[in-house]
Amino acid sequence: MTAKKEQIYEGKAKKVYATDDPALYIVSYKDDATAFNGQKKGQIADKGVVNNAMSNLLFRLIEGKGVPTHFVEQLSDRDTVVKAVKILPLEVIIRNVAAGSFSQRYGVAEGTALLRPTLEFSYKDDDLGDPLINDDHALALGFVTEAQLETVRSYAHKVNEILKAFFLEKGLKLIDFKIEFGVTPDGTVLLADEISPDTCRLWDVETNEKMDKDRFRRDLGHVEETYQEVLQRVTKE
Ligand code: UDP
Repeated sequence: MTAKKEQIYEGKAKKVYATDDPALYIVSYKDDATAFNGQKKGQIADKGVVNNAMSNLLFRLIEGKGVPTHFVEQLSDRDTVVKAVKILPLEVIIRNVAAGSFSQRYGVAEGTALLRPTLEFSYKDDDLGDPLINDDHALALGFVTEAQLETVRSYAHKVNEILKAFFLEKGLKLIDFKIEFGVTPDGTVLLADEISPDTCRLWDVETNEKMDKDRFRRDLGHVEETYQEVLQRVTKE
């Protein structure tokens, strides 16, 4: 079995370990929660377990529909073997409905349906507060090649269609989400990082109740219960 060697990175929600195989890492999901670029900090009990299970389920779904992912094998309730990649320094956000920073920036009420899925990029840099950037910025600064950018855009829209349909079957509306892509040593672009209630906005179809990290960000209560409820919904046949 693949085993953890030295820790090579610790992020806000996950640790990453080397393994005996240079082509594989192990990610370990934590319960630590942060918001507003790390200004708000806390813990969500068993969030790591929920996010590990949910990400792996969604990566398998997405891989099965033709978008390659870093997922290899779940080892335990918090640990998963993934393909070693270099993460592109872009947060790729797709929005179906206005919410969060988009609503604030453009003065559009939360809950306003967008006329088309809207992709935006942020430059992944905590010191700069992950600033919004466009395709030209990403190319001019050498963050991606034109071919990678095209792949990322097309995969991101495909992931949106897959996730939107899947969540709707589970009684959840996919408002928006953030994904990240990585590149393997042979140049293959893969969907990486995680897909979880930390990285998606999910609203109950009937009540529009927020079923995601906004419960933590905005102190809405029932944070742990909501993460468990989302996992139950997505795992129920
Ligand atoms: N998001 C994320 N990590 C970030 C920023 C955003 O996972 O560092 C997700 C967030 O959960 C939401 C979507 O990306 O599903 C859009 O977030 P937004 O830009 O509205 O930012 P926020 O309002 O969360 O600051």
